[in-house]
Amino acid sequence: MDLFEYQGKQFFAGFGIPVSAGDVVTTVDDAVAVAERIGNYPVVVKAQVQVGGRGKAGGIKLAADAAEVREHASNILGMDIKGHTVERLWIEEASDIAEEYYASFTLDRSAKQHLGMLSAQGGVEIEAVAERDPDAIAKIWIDPVDGLTEDVARTWVEAAALNPDATEGAVQILLKLYRAYVEGDADLVEINPLILKPTGEVHALDAKVTLDNNAAFRHEWDEYEATQERDEREEAAHAKGLQYVGLDGSVGIIANGAGLAMSTLDVVNQVGGSPANFLDIGGGANADVMAGALEVINNDPSVTAIFINIFGGITRGEEVANGIVEALGRVQINSPIVIRLDGTNAEEGRAILEPHLSDALQMQPTMLDAARTVVALAGAR
Ligand code: GDP
Ligand code: MN
Repeated sequence: MDLFEYQGKQFFAGFGIPVSAGDVVTTVDDAVAVAERIGNYPVVVKAQVQVGGRGKAGGIKLAADAAEVREHASNILGMDIKGHTVERLWIEEASDIAEEYYASFTLDRSAKQHLGMLSAQGGVEIEAVAERDPDAIAKIWIDPVDGLTEDVARTWVEAAALNPDATEGAVQILLKLYRAYVEGDADLVEINPLILKPTGEVHALDAKVTLDNNAAFRHEWDEYEATQERDEREEAAHAKGLQYVGLDGSVGIIANGAGLAMSTLDVVNQVGGSPANFLDIGGGANADVMAGALEVINNDPSVTAIFINIFGGITRGEEVANGIVEALGRVQINSPIVIRLDGTNAEEGRAILEPHLSDALQMQPTMLDAARTVVALAGAR
């Protein structure tokens, strides 16, 4: 789950990371009211959208007085930034900037360690820095058992060659940021820019946070959950408790388990198709779940063929097959379906499906065969 900047800053502040005082608003009048309450101009008017490069897109403006706040707020509210409509603004006290840095923690899955990245070249996209000048990013790998010690953090900061004035402030913020990442159950925490002020203070000017949904049960994340940006399809799936991600292609995909769903995307791409979505129905692929999944995909006008890819594990093949048959009786499906059913009790499952097969409901023995068939059907329409 991705947070908005203002939520990320609240999250950071909870771990003692210095951020600017401010408030979130949805109207021009409230933007002015918050600026007046801050009472110390200039203030910054910042578009709240979950996409980078807001500054370049005109979504971040300094305002010298209330009239400028009004002007910028009315321009930015409703603005489209890379397909995201601005519905909220964050108004904060402006900071003087001496230097802009970059700091982040994320998980390096292949190394099975946490990865910290720090650079003296902040304020621009880190991918650009990585391309232009990879040595400008100081990386450290942290064993989760050891954690990040102050000594290691200091050596790391020195390796990144920040201004020496920033060393102490940066070390303290990185220790807090690491705690926020681990104890806050984040998959990613990023501060870009992390700034050095002319006064010598180090401060987080932006916040990007992705939380690990699997840890939701041990946190109070309702407020973050409530503001999640979902398209209509994602909203409908979420209401049915399905893990769904909307994509741009034409092949609707239903699979049991996130790993299989991802492999299915890959295989569909590999044979020249393009997935319309990623839908994981999880372990319990009963009729209700299958009907719900088919309904969500069926309502997507860009879908021209549907791929149901099931590998029975705990879920048995005959249950899945019964689920599909029952679901087809309940939902009028507009696109042809190709099924691949394997794993536990697959034979029983296939026998159940057999009498229902037609041009509109086909079965293939392997994932690759099924992918080829569904991609051909998707294109042929
Ligand atoms: P992003 O473009 O979406 O990453 O948004 P940021 O919050 O990182 O802001 C982009 C840029 O705007 C920063 O790198 C700064 O250069 C500038 N900026 C943001 N806040 C302030 C501020 O308080 N004072 C000044 N002087 N510049 C700011
Ligand atoms: Mn930024």
